[in-house]
Amino acid sequence: MSTQTKYLLQESQLPKFWYNIQADLPKPMPPVLHPGTLQPIGPDDLAPLFPMSLILQEVSTEREIEIPEPVREVFRLWRPAPLFRAHRLEQVLGTPARIFYKYEGVSPAGSHKPNSAIPQAFFNAQAGVKRLSTETGAGQWGSSLAMAGQMFGLDVTVYQVRVSYDQKPYRRALMETYGARCIPSPSNETEYGRAVLAQRPDHPGSLGIAISEAVEVAAKNEDTKYALGSVLNHVLLHQTIIGLEAMEQMHMADAWPDVIVGCTGGGSNFAGLAFPFIGHGLRGGAQPRIVAVEPAACPSLTRGKYAYDFGDTAHLTPLTKMHTLGSTFTPPGFHAGGLRYHGMAPLISHCKELGLLDAVAYTQNQCFEAGVQFARAEGIVPAPEANHAVRGAIEEALRCKREGKAETILFNLSGHGHFDMSAYQAYFAGGLKDEHYDENELAQALSGLPSVPA
Ligand SMILES: *Cc1c(COP(=O)(O)O)cnc(C)c1O
Repeated sequence: MSTQTKYLLQESQLPKFWYNIQADLPKPMPPVLHPGTLQPIGPDDLAPLFPMSLILQEVSTEREIEIPEPVREVFRLWRPAPLFRAHRLEQVLGTPARIFYKYEGVSPAGSHKPNSAIPQAFFNAQAGVKRLSTETGAGQWGSSLAMAGQMFGLDVTVYQVRVSYDQKPYRRALMETYGARCIPSPSNETEYGRAVLAQRPDHPGSLGIAISEAVEVAAKNEDTKYALGSVLNHVLLHQTIIGLEAMEQMHMADAWPDVIVGCTGGGSNFAGLAFPFIGHGLRGGAQPRIVAVEPAACPSLTRGKYAYDFGDTAHLTPLTKMHTLGSTFTPPGFHAGGLRYHGMAPLISHCKELGLLDAVAYTQNQCFEAGVQFARAEGIVPAPEANHAVRGAIEEALRCKREGKAETILFNLSGHGHFDMSAYQAYFAGGLKDEHYDENELAQALSGLPSVPA
């Protein structure tokens, strides 16, 4: 047995194409609907918000989509990203399983998010756009887009969910360091933000509200487009660079995953790792078991309904079919801000309906416990979001121990937690509350789903 712990690819092995799972799906995706007419929308309907190059990626069914050379040039600052074998964690757990993890915290922003921020900024700049507006939760996406905007000469305005803006001042400083403007949401700068504040001046915000504000700004300004950090097909597409690299690295390790684990907010890092492996399985290869891990306080895949819904709270976006808690649902505040979204990526939701993946939910204390165990064994302090993946991987390793199975587990460590140490402090002080979402609010949000004839 090899005792190697780190698997590195050469720069020349940086993928040249993204992988589009839409080419291999046994059933096509349900159409995206216009919120007024309830008819399928076409590429032109999205043109006020996105450049045509990204819209065409959104609807493409080509298996491989080329990564432009200027994008690969920026990626080379930190990619290919390392794959590790977690020998020490295996020992601590006493498991016969082999645990591998792909580490995305090596990017300048500290997470996987630049994998999509860089190409989104590139394609917008290429289309002559001057400014990007976006939302952010914990600040990972906002800081990634701020960096990407700077690299391709675009102004960036970020609407940050109010609770995270207050909890994570360093993320805001990072966005400003990269030259972006960061505004707490709900804000007084948009019509929708003002409406929300009029109802509840101390509103903690949500990703759904921040998206509404950012979309409103893009829709009202000719020179401004909108950028989304997760959920959409083209974002998941960009993230497949994670899984494509990991496949090469698993070959280097002379191993192949039986189980793949990732954390899911909107689903982009999870899909980024899992989709290339799922596609390999759909084309006749071995099909690993795929486990999505979500927060118990915002459980779209395990408790949500598979239905058409809006992507935002103000109902400015088209309708997509996805697992949703209802667009008016506001999850309770918890530290994994990047996982506080009411819906799940339509592509992941579709894969779940096709039986291609499983989902589980854990509380934040369960996840921090796992993250601390991981940090003490492997050295890397995971982001609170990534702790969900760590928890999921540890559960799988302990199952292997109970069943006496030497399975191979691969998970995505989506980012480091260096900007989240106040959350760790609260955990050590015993101050993390596992707040349950409000069942009545969930029932109400679900009963308010738009009605779409079958
Ligand atoms: C944003 C974020 C997530 C959640 O977003 P996905 O689109 O579901 O990947 C997970 N981990 C980290 C570190 C993040 O920054």
